[in-house]
Amino acid sequence: LVRRAEQHDTKAIQALDSAHYIHPFTDHGDLATRGSRVITQAQGIYIWDSEGNKILDAMSGLWCVNAGYGRKELAEAAYQQLMTLPYYNSFFQTTNVPAVQLAAKLAALAPEVRGRKFEHVFFSSSGSESNDTNVRLVRRYWDLMGQPQRKTIIGRHNAYHGSTMAGASLGGMSGMHAQGDLPIPGIVHIEQPYFFENGRPGESEAEFGLRAARALEEKILEIGADKVAAFIAEPVQGAGGVIIPPATYWPEIQRIVDQYGILLISDEVICAFGRLGHWFAYEKFGYRPDLVTFAKGVTSGYIPLGGVMVGDRIAKVLIDKGGEFNHGYTYSGHPVACAVGLANLELMEREDLPRKVREELAPYLAKRFAEIGEHPLVGLAETCGFVAGLVLVKDKASKAMYDPELAVGMMCRAHCFRNGLIMRAVGDRMIIAPPLVMTREQIDEMVALIRRCLDDTL
Ligand code: PLP
Repeated sequence: LVRRAEQHDTKAIQALDSAHYIHPFTDHGDLATRGSRVITQAQGIYIWDSEGNKILDAMSGLWCVNAGYGRKELAEAAYQQLMTLPYYNSFFQTTNVPAVQLAAKLAALAPEVRGRKFEHVFFSSSGSESNDTNVRLVRRYWDLMGQPQRKTIIGRHNAYHGSTMAGASLGGMSGMHAQGDLPIPGIVHIEQPYFFENGRPGESEAEFGLRAARALEEKILEIGADKVAAFIAEPVQGAGGVIIPPATYWPEIQRIVDQYGILLISDEVICAFGRLGHWFAYEKFGYRPDLVTFAKGVTSGYIPLGGVMVGDRIAKVLIDKGGEFNHGYTYSGHPVACAVGLANLELMEREDLPRKVREELAPYLAKRFAEIGEHPLVGLAETCGFVAGLVLVKDKASKAMYDPELAVGMMCRAHCFRNGLIMRAVGDRMIIAPPLVMTREQIDEMVALIRRCLDDTL
């Protein structure tokens, strides 16, 4: 592996990169001066750069390579499908076998909660597109229900639901809203359930969870319940910094959406497919969504694919009363993407990955993270399934944070990079979402690297 990686001329690639390639979420001033790190190969939980350096990828790419790198079954599924039927659409009364099989597989894997089933799937190519689809679906549903005034969708500050106009609007990233007049009309936000930052003195985590959920009720009453269409949230906020809600949060959200008849969208682009130890994360928290957004882990990131699990409450209306739904993408149900998705889910089933995460890996990661919590730089260390976050603090006793100008999180991230570890910084919250195929020894290796990077940052 290393020998092949060294064949790349890093300087030449970097020059072309900064001359021609506009990267997502990147300050190109930095690229021109420092150059990108050129990633050339991957195997298991490791990636290699063009200089031959081996790096432990504790982020699974962008939270997506759940089954790990180098899985031959997935490459073979893509090759076979490319040779058989590389493309055909499912518009105008045609369909294709992998799309049908994957839809049926997803419907079989999605657990029924309190009488609500997920028997239908709409496919897209990404999480962002899927959330755009959700906006269309939700509004279509209320039109068909004779309540067209129900248009407003409530999201949360610091949530991430994608980069398209609707995705970025549903999300609550202020930096994204500031660029391009977002959110689009009809989308509003409430506070996130982040106890460490938003808990009040003397308030317990359980009390805070209820208060954070009741912000939804206050917003519904402010807007008028008959105008609210849906609430969208990630089970655990990912890109916002692995924000794990208190145990009281989701049951109270469920009470509120039930009371006001509002649709619930669970954005599981990160949290599904074993990430939290279940096929779908709503099962872990026990709530009952109407729509579930998925992408990333459905193919372990090997090929773009996303979609929406459509619960029977919406499917019945859309299918029985709806007529034509004027919505779809050229690549909805792409046969190659669906064939890889199917192979990936079968692989995850064969290796029993969700259960393995739930019963073996997540408890071990939680134990090792509790130890990292003792580090002098760490004010909070928490895990949920196979995601985890650390808050870097200036003073461990008072949990006082560093001045944001110091960018301690970015400093720590740079040390990780240098030490052969990919960890992400969200402000001064350091986060991970490792591949679900890690061994205990590899968790130990990752934890030792994290410790080294924290020591270097101190
Ligand atoms: N929703 C969530 C929860 C995400 O984390 C992401 C991406 O990170 C998206 C939606 C957008 O997905 P994509 O980048 O595939 O458009």
